[in-house]
Amino acid sequence: MSHLVQPAASLYIGGRPVEGQGAMLAVHYPYTGEVIATLHEASLEQVAIATATAASAQPAWAALRPVERGRILLRAAMIIRDRGEELARLETLDTGKPIQETRVADWPSGADALEYFAGLAATITGQTIPLGGDFVYTIREALGVCAGIGAWNYPSQIACWKAAPALIMGNAMVFKPSEETPLGALKLAEIFTEAGLPAGIFNVVQGRGAVGAALVTDPRVAKVSLTGSVATGQKVYAAAAEGMRHVTMELGGKSPLIIFDDARLEDAVGAAILGNFYSSGQVCSNGTRVFVQQGILPRFLERLSARLTHVKMGDPLDEATQHGPIVSPAQVSKIRAAIERGQAEGAQLVCGGVGEGSFVPPTVFADATDDMFIAREEIFGPVMTVLSFTAEDEVLARANATPYGLAAGVFTADLARAHRVVAALQVGTTWINAYNQTPVEAPFGGSKLSGVGRENSAAAIDHYSQLKSVYVGMGSVDAPY
Ligand code: NAD
Repeated sequence: MSHLVQPAASLYIGGRPVEGQGAMLAVHYPYTGEVIATLHEASLEQVAIATATAASAQPAWAALRPVERGRILLRAAMIIRDRGEELARLETLDTGKPIQETRVADWPSGADALEYFAGLAATITGQTIPLGGDFVYTIREALGVCAGIGAWNYPSQIACWKAAPALIMGNAMVFKPSEETPLGALKLAEIFTEAGLPAGIFNVVQGRGAVGAALVTDPRVAKVSLTGSVATGQKVYAAAAEGMRHVTMELGGKSPLIIFDDARLEDAVGAAILGNFYSSGQVCSNGTRVFVQQGILPRFLERLSARLTHVKMGDPLDEATQHGPIVSPAQVSKIRAAIERGQAEGAQLVCGGVGEGSFVPPTVFADATDDMFIAREEIFGPVMTVLSFTAEDEVLARANATPYGLAAGVFTADLARAHRVVAALQVGTTWINAYNQTPVEAPFGGSKLSGVGRENSAAAIDHYSQLKSVYVGMGSVDAPY
């Protein structure tokens, strides 16, 4: 069966497909390595055309009633839900993630975001501030043209999570997906047009880092939202600063998952599995440092190994497959090097290993120490590092001893301890007796080097709008001279 999914053209500008004039970009299906689409990057001139098109379309879009904008986003969400199977297949081909995941997690969570912000649209208002006779009122305004730049692990979800709050506030967007997974954003652009979005409000340019860099510094861009690594985030944040642009940075992490002796064992094991191996471990908020209290550690490792023997790896389009390939050969090499380093530094390989071809099996290291590479650096693959601890104070200090601050989880039956621990964790997103749940209703994002700003929830509105305050004088103006 052919896996070819060649789109009409590489870019989407002004409500229609446009061919890129830059370098070639081959899209590979990670499972077989075959080329499933051949695209072209945008030329730097085309990046400028995309932002200019967005800038000229944006004022009329911002002038619509919010319910009208909401209606279009809702229609887009309905189209996504109606075509769930076709879109899940496309996402699987683009990323290599198992179809049993892409059916429920990727586009569906994108549709959730469109529905959520469509519903919120008409409730977003300013304030009136009384001053006796005079008063001030505030207007929450669009920023203008927003640039979205995506990572490869959740390409369609990332595009929707950025587009939904941006568009609902009356902004236009130029989105650059990851060069590894360029197909979902193009599909989203088509869906938006079909749903009635005016031409030029959601545009897609393709390309590697240089195209992203050109987008970030384009004079028409008022805001940049990046999902990517810390290293890229530092470059993009610095480049955005020159134009005083607003930023949202959703970056990497090395998040702690803390399991106390009194935790429900099977739940904690399940959360550690999902929080390390879903999407073959390519999830930014994964709890890759699993701190397990000494009393429960032997049973934890035993149950973890036992449950991992049942994982089904293979063809991601087979609905029984639970663990797919890694997105690219470069990422496979990076993960393998980290596993080899873990062994060389003396951690105990409990299960898994370097794997074969494009696959890396769920891999667990125990007897690790905090200074090892596998306990410090984001690997962005299916590698879990188990660390033991004895006391609450000790584990908190160790969990916080990292420059990252994306997420953290705690498993315990002690209610007071659970709340005390999450309060002390220096991260943006936490879970108690759960892990990696990211419903659109809740703010999501990191602190420290893991990012600034929040996606999802009403909090995202603040990051795609600005306040204008209007002072209204009701009396005469008393000038002293
Ligand atoms: P990456 O940083 O290599 O690339 C991210 C995007 O930035 C790509 O589209 C890339 O082309 C673009 N880019 C690269 N250099 C650029 C530049 N100088 N200017 C503008 N754009 C540039 O990240 P990746 O390998 O695609 O994704 C993996 C990383 O993303 C991991 O660190 C992971 O933790 C992180 N991530 C974070 C979240 C989150 O929400 N916090 C979600 C998913 C992934």
